[in-house]
Amino acid sequence: PGSAHLTLVQVTDVTPTVRRESLLRTRVDQMHHMARVDPLTGVGNRREFSETLDSEVRAAVRAGAPLGLLMIDIDHFKNYNDHYGHPAGDRCLRDVADLLRKVVRRPRDRLTRYGGEEFAVLLPGTPLEGVAEVGRELVSRMRMLDLPHQASLVSDRVTVSVGAASLTPARPEDAVTLVRHADEALYAAKGAGRDRLHVWLAPADRHGAAALSAEATQAHGPAVTPTCPPTHVPSHAHSIHQNAGSRQRLCCARRNPGSARADRWPVPLAGRPALWGGCRPNPERAPGAQPGGGL
Ligand code: GH3
Ligand code: MG
Ligand code: MG
Repeated sequence: PGSAHLTLVQVTDVTPTVRRESLLRTRVDQMHHMARVDPLTGVGNRREFSETLDSEVRAAVRAGAPLGLLMIDIDHFKNYNDHYGHPAGDRCLRDVADLLRKVVRRPRDRLTRYGGEEFAVLLPGTPLEGVAEVGRELVSRMRMLDLPHQASLVSDRVTVSVGAASLTPARPEDAVTLVRHADEALYAAKGAGRDRLHVWLAPADRHGAAALSAEATQAHGPAVTPTCPPTHVPSHAHSIHQNAGSRQRLCCARRNPGSARADRWPVPLAGRPALWGGCRPNPERAPGAQPGGGL
């Protein structure tokens, strides 16, 4: 009784601090996003690719699941810039990215701009057949997009070459192998004439790769032999073998007298010199073949 108890109550308005922290967090998130997105196309950039590849390979190792990869490169894009100018080149890159967005549909699939006019698509849980299917759709829909490319040496439209690979990684370092395989397949697609898909298979299965790749170029019209049969050595010239009307591709073998499709031997595209003349019999597969019997 008689003793006084004093209580000190301090009231501080923390609203400005909370606001400041929230603003700071928003800015950090924005910077995080900007560091991973390509400003031209709005898809993930190379950093995003590397980080996603790393995490998806680790996830695939844990799950014992396959991881697929598509490498996509616009054909003769330097010529496109030279012919139509860089702003048009930028628009073309955006159009290609928009198309890729439509083809890449599963939530975990990751589309990124790998660099320049190259894109990469990571397809978790996807074996090679599935990766090839997406790649095939891509090549075909790119043609249907019908973007003019008067300076291309393979078509009068913008086309892409695609390399496909898939593996079930055993360790994180297998990420490098997956990229190398997809890159090798892309290089093969370029070498075989562009505007096509190539898949990576172990050397022992390479004839199978040819079959899978060949399907990619059959997107238009009835099935024709789009690349050389095993008895012929494919060449860059095949990319020029187009029928201007149907855009079907034919192999030099189809030129043989008596061939069912001899009447459909292609003509050069309007205003374009006839560039074919490269493929030839494969001496290993057809020992009796006449040298230079192609075109
Ligand atoms: P290939 O069919 O062998 O792939 O030939 P390519 O001409 O497509 O390949 P190359 O590597 O010779 O040229 C790529 C071109 O892509 C050169 C460069 O000017 C262009 N490029 C890269 N990034 C951009 C970009 O952001 N905008 C524009 N407009 N062009 C770009
Ligand atoms: Mg390139
Ligand atoms: Mg290119």
